Amino acid sequence: MYPLQKGGFIKLLNKKTLKDIKVSGKKVLVRCDFNVPFKDGAISDQNRIISALPTIKHLLASGAKVILCSHLGKGAKGDTLAPVAVALEAHLGKKVTFADDGEVVGQKTKDLVANMGDGDIILLQNTRFSGGETTNCAIFSKELASLSDCFVFDAFGTAHRAHASTVGVTEFLKESAVGFLVEKELKFLGEAIDNPQRPFVAILGGAKVSDKINVIANLLDKVDTLIIGGGMAYTFIKAMGHEIGASLLEEDKIEYAKKMLAEAKEKNVSLLLPIDTIIAKEFKNDAEAFSVDIENIKEGYIGVDIGAKTIAHFEAALRGAKTVIWNGPMGVFEMENFAKGTKHIAKTLSEIGAVTIIGGGDSAAAVNILGYGDKMSHISTGGGASLKFLEGVMLPALGAIAQKDE
Ligand code: AMP
Repeated sequence: MYPLQKGGFIKLLNKKTLKDIKVSGKKVLVRCDFNVPFKDGAISDQNRIISALPTIKHLLASGAKVILCSHLGKGAKGDTLAPVAVALEAHLGKKVTFADDGEVVGQKTKDLVANMGDGDIILLQNTRFSGGETTNCAIFSKELASLSDCFVFDAFGTAHRAHASTVGVTEFLKESAVGFLVEKELKFLGEAIDNPQRPFVAILGGAKVSDKINVIANLLDKVDTLIIGGGMAYTFIKAMGHEIGASLLEEDKIEYAKKMLAEAKEKNVSLLLPIDTIIAKEFKNDAEAFSVDIENIKEGYIGVDIGAKTIAHFEAALRGAKTVIWNGPMGVFEMENFAKGTKHIAKTLSEIGAVTIIGGGDSAAAVNILGYGDKMSHISTGGGASLKFLEGVMLPALGAIAQKDE
């Protein structure tokens, strides 16, 4: 994998963005993230389609022949991208030809591409309909590449996957660049990691320590304060010698938690953990629940949210911050009674005037549902990708572009 050097993302931005390549009259293959959710057969959230529009509009306005591709779901029989073509037409106000080709790059697609004029746009069928997509197969990569003169990667949500349409294809094309959506992601996430305005605070929550092991280790080298809440906090609380009842515990991560607590001290990072917690008798919204200090979690009870003292404690650290990255809810926020901690963090971030970056997934959903979406500096479109980013590794799709011509 392409190693991540300090300033690596910024360097990539300086050299390989859409504005750096000439696209007029060229066939441009664009990898988008159209992996949209469906409900009752209709697209239930168009965010990913809307996020792709700036790049597509720029290419159309520049007189390129635009060939869009994406995966959808796991590539099962019904996972057709046809509804996305219809949605795109509505957003763009122009014809979007859907290449309904089960082979993705079969004769049907090749014929449609051969007949494209400048300013035309084609959407290919789900790349996962080809078995070569997820295996990053050279044959499929080459076929995809053969459709175009250059490649634009604009699917941040899949940047952590080395697939044919994200990585392999770049091997067979002379010119590749990142699109406007990826550029924006890199600008915010990359600058926070490479060159943050300080104090720099990271908030981690969500269910598992094991999902965020490398993130914690890497962030301890970057941040001034690391806040840990949500289900993952209880393994840390256990590591500090407290009983945690029936709260989420990863027994095999207790030693790791102890190591991180010691490292934080060594590195002068203030690592903040909950000082009180809401505990519930059962894992359901209307279960009997009350607040206790962290030393007093009762046997059999489950920690489901941070308590009021913790909210104030975390809020105080956030009020002075200049850069904040947040990934993972503070409690079981899907249950209304245990969403208070997550709501407070979202509200605080909307008020502090810092660079606020939400790392996709559940925290992005929470911020949007609560109506604070437009108050954040940046909400990442990639949960998994942004976590990988915070681990400090170059994402394969970005590495493939950065590496070219070096
Ligand atoms: P993640 O995907 O790791 O960000 O985890 C998100 C999930 O963590 C959400 O579904 C939350 O309900 C869950 N979660 C947050 N806090 C807790 C907790 N204290 N106990 C159990 N699950 C939690």
